[in-house]
Amino acid sequence: MKTINDFNFKDKKAIIRVDFNVPLDANFKVTDATRIEAAKPTIDKILQDGGSVILMSHLGRPKGVENKYSLQHIVYKIEEVLGKKIQFVNDCVGANVETVAANLKPGDVLLLENLRFYAEEEKGDPNFAEKLAKLGDIYVNDAFGTAHRAHASTAIIADFFTNKKCFGLLLAKEIESINKVLRDSEKPVTAILGGSKVSSKITIIENILDKVNHMIIGGGMTYTFVKALGGNIGNSICEDDKLDLAIEILKQAKAKGVQIHLPVDVVAADDFANNAATQVVNVNQIPDGWQGLDAGPKTLEIFKRIILDSKTILWNGPVGVFEMESFANGTIKVGDYIAEATKSGAFSLVGGGDSVAAVKQFGLEDKMSYVSTGGGAMLEMLEGKTLPGIAAILN
Ligand code: AMP
Repeated sequence: MKTINDFNFKDKKAIIRVDFNVPLDANFKVTDATRIEAAKPTIDKILQDGGSVILMSHLGRPKGVENKYSLQHIVYKIEEVLGKKIQFVNDCVGANVETVAANLKPGDVLLLENLRFYAEEEKGDPNFAEKLAKLGDIYVNDAFGTAHRAHASTAIIADFFTNKKCFGLLLAKEIESINKVLRDSEKPVTAILGGSKVSSKITIIENILDKVNHMIIGGGMTYTFVKALGGNIGNSICEDDKLDLAIEILKQAKAKGVQIHLPVDVVAADDFANNAATQVVNVNQIPDGWQGLDAGPKTLEIFKRIILDSKTILWNGPVGVFEMESFANGTIKVGDYIAEATKSGAFSLVGGGDSVAAVKQFGLEDKMSYVSTGGGAMLEMLEGKTLPGIAAILN
């Protein structure tokens, strides 16, 4: 796996695909600069080598050229993060951009205009990719958030750089982290899967059954399993068309020697609301009119023991409706247990959507070994798919 550390960028122009699709407020101010900060180590290393940097990204989902999606808005924030002035061109391909790029000096940073102002970007158009490729000597992909897309700038462009292409430090770290969980993991390996539906996690479950020793199932998914096993789940969320699938997963797990841990008790509520009445009940004895919205105390004790005994931990999906304070306890506790295990030397990866949001919300981010930056991309990696943006560099 080639990274920027395998290259000396002295007097070279690096064209870097970054993910600067950052949130903006009504005055076009950046409200969260995490993605820009995440690309800084890659940019800094290239500049320190004595190279120059051409940054390309998308922002939002523009239909053609729309000023509100101009990357011009974020120039000030990139300058703040990098601690230096940068240049901006109001296009990403063409003669003018080529001239500006050709005149870059070592230490210069140039930001191109939104790639998605051209429909060719998302179509993965080779001619468009070739025009982008012309601008740089070495192609660097550091955009994990779009690595699951075969777009011109994320994958197709790599064809125009035979040996001169590599991963940026962020993307390399993402790949390394997932490999630490799914490939070169220290045992016992535990996956904690939560979230609302079995159907959206089924491919992940099937892929990781070969790689883990324990699988903790929590959140809304629980009830499809419990109902399939003959339990009473009251009004809890359930996918009735996935009952057979749930039984099949349990069978597969048994055959593969994976221990599945379902909640034994839950916090049930008489309404899907923060101020609902609640009671702790056995997971398979939820009264009619009540629904399970969080893991119960006995369950959390069991989850705690498994998590603290693990050497490798993957967390995807909350174990309760953590957005409501009344049902956040289970997710907070699970986060705390993972933090504790990590402190004792386990490797922990949090990835994919809502668990990342939960970890940030509860201030646990720095206590995990790695928190993934790419929602959809991480989910596809967990599903065992080869991401186009990664394959394009490896080929
Ligand atoms: P997902 O996007 O599939 O990872 O699901 C995340 C969502 O699942 C979060 O918004 C949680 O509020 C929700 N969730 C977790 N537990 C439950 C539950 N017991 N009932 C309904 N929704 C839940």
